[in-house]
Amino acid sequence: MTFEYCPKCGEKLFPKQIGDEGDVPFCEKCSRPFFPFSYPCVICLCIAENDEILLIKQSYGIIRYVCVAGYIKSGESAEECAKREIAEETGLELLGTRFLYSKYYEKHDNLMLAFAVRVRKGELKLSGELSEAAWFTPDEAYEALFDGAYGRDMINEIRRLEKEGLLGI
Ligand SMILES: [Zn+2]
Repeated sequence: MTFEYCPKCGEKLFPKQIGDEGDVPFCEKCSRPFFPFSYPCVICLCIAENDEILLIKQSYGIIRYVCVAGYIKSGESAEECAKREIAEETGLELLGTRFLYSKYYEKHDNLMLAFAVRVRKGELKLSGELSEAAWFTPDEAYEALFDGAYGRDMINEIRRLEKEGLLGI
């Protein structure tokens, strides 16, 4: 997202040299720059204490198994967002987070922050946005996800980290 108008006061922004950043859209009225950014989201590979993986199906769009994901709200950390999204969508309690990697998703101008998340396997209380949620072994989860799914990348990454003893959750 690159701003043309000030999101605070609505004035037209003009480029201004900001240190090493080069020209940045600037509001003269508010006297501040508005740096271009991509919307930050978290995507969580939810893993129970017994290493089973939770996949969900949303009740809109293309119906297929995916991982819990959501937009980070203003004022929220990525970890707080993961905790909130998991509680809202599944009712599960988060026990620990492990940042895996970030990836830019051009279609929606998102910066995806991928986390492996340990959750307590309890009663599922699905949000109205979900049609289904189910537990899988890691191999089953990999198969249940579509080719090119973030979840598959994330399973590959946790396998690599586990092999090195570096998963840490
Ligand atoms: Zn302004």
